[in-house]
Amino acid sequence: MARKSQKADEPIRPGEFELIERYFAPLAGEGAFGLKDDAALVSVTPGKALVVTQDALAAGVHFLADDPPDLIARKALRVNLSDLAAKGAVPKAFSLALGLDGDWDAEWVAAFARGLGEDCAHYRVALTGGDTFRAPGGPVISVAAWGEIDAPNYRSRLGAGDGDTLFVTGTIGDGAIGLLAHQGRLPAGARDDRASLARSYLLPDPPVRFAPLIAEFASAAMDISDGFVGDLQKLAAASRVDFDVRAGDVPVAAALRGLVGEPGMLETALTGGDDYQFLFTVPQRRVAQFLQMAQKTDTAVAALAIARKGTGKVRITDATGEPMRFSSPSWNHF
Ligand code: ADP
Ligand code: MG
Repeated sequence: MARKSQKADEPIRPGEFELIERYFAPLAGEGAFGLKDDAALVSVTPGKALVVTQDALAAGVHFLADDPPDLIARKALRVNLSDLAAKGAVPKAFSLALGLDGDWDAEWVAAFARGLGEDCAHYRVALTGGDTFRAPGGPVISVAAWGEIDAPNYRSRLGAGDGDTLFVTGTIGDGAIGLLAHQGRLPAGARDDRASLARSYLLPDPPVRFAPLIAEFASAAMDISDGFVGDLQKLAAASRVDFDVRAGDVPVAAALRGLVGEPGMLETALTGGDDYQFLFTVPQRRVAQFLQMAQKTDTAVAALAIARKGTGKVRITDATGEPMRFSSPSWNHF
């Protein structure tokens, strides 16, 4: 990309190339030539296939422009690792496209890179390259990530069969409650303090280390990013099965349990986005062994329903057995 000229009245800060060299080159992995080349040369373990995914975050849509930059960076990476792990893949590396508004400052980028570096170390993933550009209304961050897998172990949304048990990891609604907390729109009955609730929205914690169990036991799998109900509908439709789920069986965020009386809170949890937990099905004959293995991990799993051959219908019933109606089953950009 061509270098952009700096206007005379702008504060002194690094140009595009200095920015890459100073903040991102230290995170470069094997084959990335210290981010001094046009591309990276990535080796692949013989016999393995690559699983590739991409997710972007934009200011004002996925985060607020004044959110902590280190958390924005870590979230941008984590939402991608969530997709990979939900397919059963072990994440390896990623590339980063970073669009910055005209008024970006070096401190913001330094904190962004520091957060990214922390998660690179934590998840053992390396940066292979990317692009840096001017984006009015930014920041905008797009990450493409990939991992390796034995091809037959790839878990799509299409594989759920009649009689398979539907499971979910962790709790649902933390991200949606966290967003309310972050926006200062939490109902009065909320127990936990605003900052700790907001953290689940700002920094999701997908069960990345659960990937091998997805690979070994799941017939279909996906991560929940847009909202539990809508995402379950996607899995049901892709697999051509139906699910009947009692809302009371869905493990909801601890912060929500005191708020179930609040109008709309259960709906917020079930249809709000940013959970980054996994939805998956396990064939009946493998359930017992799966549960035994899952118990040895630090990821909680809950059985929710039995898949029935169908057309993609998802019914969520309330405590009285009545089907619940939602104004929207999940987040939708348009
Ligand atoms: P080109 O003009 O050849 O496409 P660039 O000048 O855009 O290359 O980038 C130079 C190098 O810096 C490349 O290795 C690229 O992958 C890397 N790079 C650019 N922006 C980023 C970024 N935001 N994060 C990581 N690497 C980056
Ligand atoms: Mg080039």
